[in-house]
Amino acid sequence: MRLEAERNDIVEYGKKLIEAKLTTGTGGNLSICNRDENLVAIKPSGMDYCKMSAEDVVVVDLQGNIVDGKLKPSSEISFHLGLINVRPDINAVVHTHQVYATTIACLNWELPAVHYLVGLSGNKVPLAAYATYGSKELSDNILKTIGHYNACLMANHGLVTVGSSIASAFAVAEEIELVSRLYYQAKCIGDPAILSDEEMVRVGKKFNTYGNL
Ligand code: 13P
Ligand code: ZN
Repeated sequence: MRLEAERNDIVEYGKKLIEAKLTTGTGGNLSICNRDENLVAIKPSGMDYCKMSAEDVVVVDLQGNIVDGKLKPSSEISFHLGLINVRPDINAVVHTHQVYATTIACLNWELPAVHYLVGLSGNKVPLAAYATYGSKELSDNILKTIGHYNACLMANHGLVTVGSSIASAFAVAEEIELVSRLYYQAKCIGDPAILSDEEMVRVGKKFNTYGNL
């Protein structure tokens, strides 16, 4: 089996997306790139995460040609490969319909730095304009908007996050959900204070040496 380790990770993190309530049903998708082999493991379209096995995961090349697997790849393959192709720092892409971030996206708002954890994305989470799911236009809108950020809201749809590993792309999605909820709740009772761009630069630098790894 090609990309066995990456396929196992797609299965594991797909289940984690459901457990963490970052998506529901067959919604959302995730991919992992192996830069040595120039191949990408991606969730099959319309697959129940709890029933997905490593064999179900589709392996494609960087142009989207199927290299291994019997099923149709995710309908969002265009932005997964687009992101992996334009940013060499990206080895994993996660797309979710997580409730609080999607609420912000349904208002067609960006998510500002209401909490320092927005720093996992940058000084904010930008918003990509709406286009139909699975379309080239949606992919173009995300690629135009994401720049150097690690997260991008998708208008009236959801969130996409990226990382050097599937663990980091997943963590960005999880923490952006927390910050989206805090922003929503703070907005309900007042006018949230927003951290400055200078502070977010400081936070971004500290993240590089955070933890023990
Ligand atoms: P797939 O099941 O084709 O990955 O699509 C789910 C989705 O979230 C579309 O935006
Ligand atoms: Zn979606």
